[in-house]
Amino acid sequence: MSDYILSKDYFVKVIEDLITLVDQRKEYYTELDSQIGDGDHGINLEIGFREVNKNLDEWKKLNVRDFYNNVGKALLDKVGGSSGPLYGSFFMKFGLPIKSKGPDEGATFEEFIEMMDKGVAIIQKRGKSTKGEKTMLDTFIPALETLRSEYEAGTPGKEAMEKAVEAGKEGLEFTRNIVATKGRAMRLGERAIGHLDPGAASAAEFLEVFYKDMP
Ligand SMILES: [Mg+2]
Repeated sequence: MSDYILSKDYFVKVIEDLITLVDQRKEYYTELDSQIGDGDHGINLEIGFREVNKNLDEWKKLNVRDFYNNVGKALLDKVGGSSGPLYGSFFMKFGLPIKSKGPDEGATFEEFIEMMDKGVAIIQKRGKSTKGEKTMLDTFIPALETLRSEYEAGTPGKEAMEKAVEAGKEGLEFTRNIVATKGRAMRLGERAIGHLDPGAASAAEFLEVFYKDMP
């Protein structure tokens, strides 16, 4: 057990910064999605995170577990397409491994890894997908595997997360070289090659926020 603790403030700041990120990057996500999908990824995320933003002050009073459950539910309820509900499920499961219940308590880094694990697992389950299918899992799965293996090998928490972000970005780049076997881009066949997956792109930038906000 390490004594690297991620505070309640950290977990709230991540969501605040994701709201800002989505606002700044929505055109980019939509541009990627218009190349191989239906061009709504940025708009969908914006609708979801705008709803989260509306309720944030109220939810901040809750513990991390309930806070993330509310964030996830808002995304699940408000966002169309496929990646919105997948992110919604991710955040709803994300808080579950936290054992502390107090509204001001954070999580240990070990718990943080389990939180990421729960989130990625539900995306796999809901999407009936794994890596190599040109989806957000091409970012999430290598990132999670790297996070766990680096940390277990003794790499300090924030550094392990930095390596996880790098692995996620490599996974994102890899989506450029493959056809889609899940989602709307499937029908494009070979024509999807040469394009990044929009969900993998937003996932890589989301993970970077989790990393940058770490103390
Ligand atoms: Mg779309």
